[in-house]
Amino acid sequence: MVKAEGVSKSFGSNLVLKSISLEVQRGEVLCLVGPSGSGKSTFLRCINHLETVNAGRLSVDGEIVGYRQKDDKLYEMHPREAAKQRRDIGMVFQRFNLFPHMTALENVMLAPTLLGKGSKAMLKSRALDLLARVGLAERWDYYPAHLSGGQQQRVAIARALAMEPKLMLFDEPTSALDPELVGEVLDVMKGLAESGMTMIVVTHEMGFAREVADKLVFMDGGVVVEEGDPNDVLSNPQRERTRAFLSKVL
Ligand code: ATP
Ligand code: MG
Repeated sequence: MVKAEGVSKSFGSNLVLKSISLEVQRGEVLCLVGPSGSGKSTFLRCINHLETVNAGRLSVDGEIVGYRQKDDKLYEMHPREAAKQRRDIGMVFQRFNLFPHMTALENVMLAPTLLGKGSKAMLKSRALDLLARVGLAERWDYYPAHLSGGQQQRVAIARALAMEPKLMLFDEPTSALDPELVGEVLDVMKGLAESGMTMIVVTHEMGFAREVADKLVFMDGGVVVEEGDPNDVLSNPQRERTRAFLSKVL
């Protein structure tokens, strides 16, 4: 579903991703961990083309991100075309960024409504189903200010799912939450993984990684230092850098 081959990205002279290669199969969950500044967010942003890679190739579901292939040649996509490609990829950030003047339901319905994805009644019933799926059936008419951080983040997940993405990217979805609210968001993500969603999750929640991830990738300084089965990597890291990092977060 996602394939990175020698992906590099720099900001000016700052080489942030140094030839990253990794693969996520359909239905797999990959957890990405690493110290601050190691390039995790940048990598996620490249996958949905919020950033353009400088070298290498990144593809999602067989399509090269940001490029169209024709007669063995690659053509850069028009921004409009790129935006269309991005719609199939859901993203959830540390900060939930819900629209404050809209209820939970309106937040979830907004994008599919703007894109004319169906009748209002149909989109409403689908949005209510999604809110039920994230455990918020009773709060559909609440405004973000009246929801806890964990509830807001669950609305943000429902909002991403409303676009029926084939891939979900999570960038530290629980790190802005009070500790007692982390579990409810991780539970929703776990349910999503069990339903077969392909997911890439940047997180420091190693319990989640151990339980839910098919693959754990440790990144440092813009390179993949180590990857493998989460239990293997967490219990028996092969590289000194991985060991040093894990000793700080475990
Ligand atoms: P954190 O755990 O703190 O979120 P991260 O692993 O997500 O870190 P990135 O946000 O990907 O790291 O940043 C990697 C490097 O790229 C940093 O040195 C950062 O300063 C730089 N960087 C990221 N985005 C930009 C940008 N838009 N312009 C310039 N430099 C950037
Ligand atoms: Mg980050």
